[in-house]
Amino acid sequence: MMEKILIVEDEKDIVKMLEYNFKKEGFTPLSVTNGDDALDAAVRHQPGLIILDLMLPGMNGLEVCKALKNERKTSGIPVIMLTAKAQESDKIVGLELGADDYVTKPFSPRELIARTKAVLRRVKEKDKLPEVFKAGDLTLDFSRISVMVKDKLVELTAKEFELLKTLIGVKGRVLSRDYLLDNIWGFDHAIEIQTRTVDVHIRTLRKKLKSEAKRIITVKNYGYRFDREED
Ligand code: CA
Repeated sequence: MMEKILIVEDEKDIVKMLEYNFKKEGFTPLSVTNGDDALDAAVRHQPGLIILDLMLPGMNGLEVCKALKNERKTSGIPVIMLTAKAQESDKIVGLELGADDYVTKPFSPRELIARTKAVLRRVKEKDKLPEVFKAGDLTLDFSRISVMVKDKLVELTAKEFELLKTLIGVKGRVLSRDYLLDNIWGFDHAIEIQTRTVDVHIRTLRKKLKSEAKRIITVKNYGYRFDREED
């Protein structure tokens, strides 16, 4: 699957230039021109990374960054800020708010893409799962693709295993049904009947996980998350 990049910028020329260059590098760019749309798009599309211009009409980039980092559904998405030279202090505030990097305008697309790849690499490295994952009585062995609950082997289908692994892999982040469908089933634009596929698989997964089923938390009207702390 191609990584989605959400571009938040109101200057059309820059958006066009970025879309063109990200596409050329094999990414799937999405773009919005203001903060409210940025928050909606981030929740809905769960992009791999957000390019956020600080100079936006209405809600400014720093407010957008803060809102993204305060929302559980988007807090784990890395952010690269676009700043102007005169916004030196905003840059620091942005990094304190949780942005991952910044690029000063004017910039070359090549530089921004290199930074994007570096941030994505860093995030993946950080999110790497250990070979064996444990939570309560649940043990997942990723190298053997086996799951145990209370030392008893649990037979999962390939999709159920992928689903569990994906939920665990994002470390507590909430994943939407659309995201799961896109990533596990490869449905890009899910229709109603397909989104129910996720619920059906979650149901059978919970049944099989027995006492550890409680770790898969339903987020109403949205999706699911895995809770490692639950006991
Ligand atoms: Ca702008």
